Order: sequence, then C-alpha cells, then structure tokens
Amino acid sequence: MKTVFEMIIDGDIPSVKLYEDDVCLVILDINPIQKGHALVISKKPYPRFTESPCQELSHMMEVAKKVDLKMREALKAEGTNIMINNDPASGQEVPHLHIHVIPRYKDDGKGFILNKDKYSEGEINQFGEKLCLK
Ligand code: AMP
Repeated sequence: MKTVFEMIIDGDIPSVKLYEDDVCLVILDINPIQKGHALVISKKPYPRFTESPCQELSHMMEVAKKVDLKMREALKAEGTNIMINNDPASGQEVPHLHIHVIPRYKDDGKGFILNKDKYSEGEINQFGEKLCLK
C-alpha cells in the first residue's frame, strides 16, 4: 500500500510544493507545528532513516539548508528545528523518509518538544561505554 507521501509524489493527492528534483520533494506540512513547517521527502520510499543511503540523505540535508535559509528570509524565522522521526517510538507516523524543517521564533512559546531526562551519579559514563562507536 502506498504511503501518503507516495500518493503526493504520484500526484494522487494535492500538496503545496516548495521544491522538487530527482531525489526529493519539499511540501508544506498540513498539520504544522508552526506555520511554514516544511517536509523534505525522499522520492524513493525508504521506510526509515536507518535504511536510507547516505548520498540521498546528504542531498536532502543540502535541500533542508536551503529551506532553512528561505524561512529566515521570507518568514523572518529566528531559528529552525531540523528533525527526522525514526520509527513509531519516536513519533514517526508516515513510514517514508522525510526531514521536518520547522521555523522558530524566540518568543513562540513552543519550547523544546521533548521532555528532558536526568542521569544519576556516574550513569553518563555507562551510557558512554554502551554507545561508543570505536
Ligand atoms: P512523522 O510523524 O515524522 O512521520 O511526520 C509526518 C508528517 O506528515 C506529520 O507532521 C503530518 O502532519 C504530515 N502529513 C500527513 N499527511 C500529510 C499531507 N497529506 N500533506 C502534508 N503533510 C502531511
């Protein structure tokens, strides 16, 4: 079954397109965290970040940078959140690679979207050992 983003890419359902090339499409999110919230969507339906080739991710990041700069110029954004949700546990609803680019303002009252955790004494070093890539 097609994802909603495949349907958009195939023209089955409408979207507000900001940019398109061979690798990706940029549209406005219909349910924005802030008006102007954009999605950089891969043309190929990789279900997750983890399965996506670095070459395509790298290109999509270049495009996300351009979207960021445009938001600063056209919407007077003072910052952005650049975000990829990866798997339902992270909040990913559409299993098709996409990068969120969300315009932000100093006083927009949205804060950071995730609650912070706290390490107990010495615990940060245990996590350092578990996650070390060497
Ligand atoms: P995620 O939760 O990271 O998978 O993000 C999926 C995003 O797609 C959500 O922010 C939705 O609001 C957005 N979305 C879902 N359907 C559409 C649509 N038809 N057009 C534009 N954005 C959509």
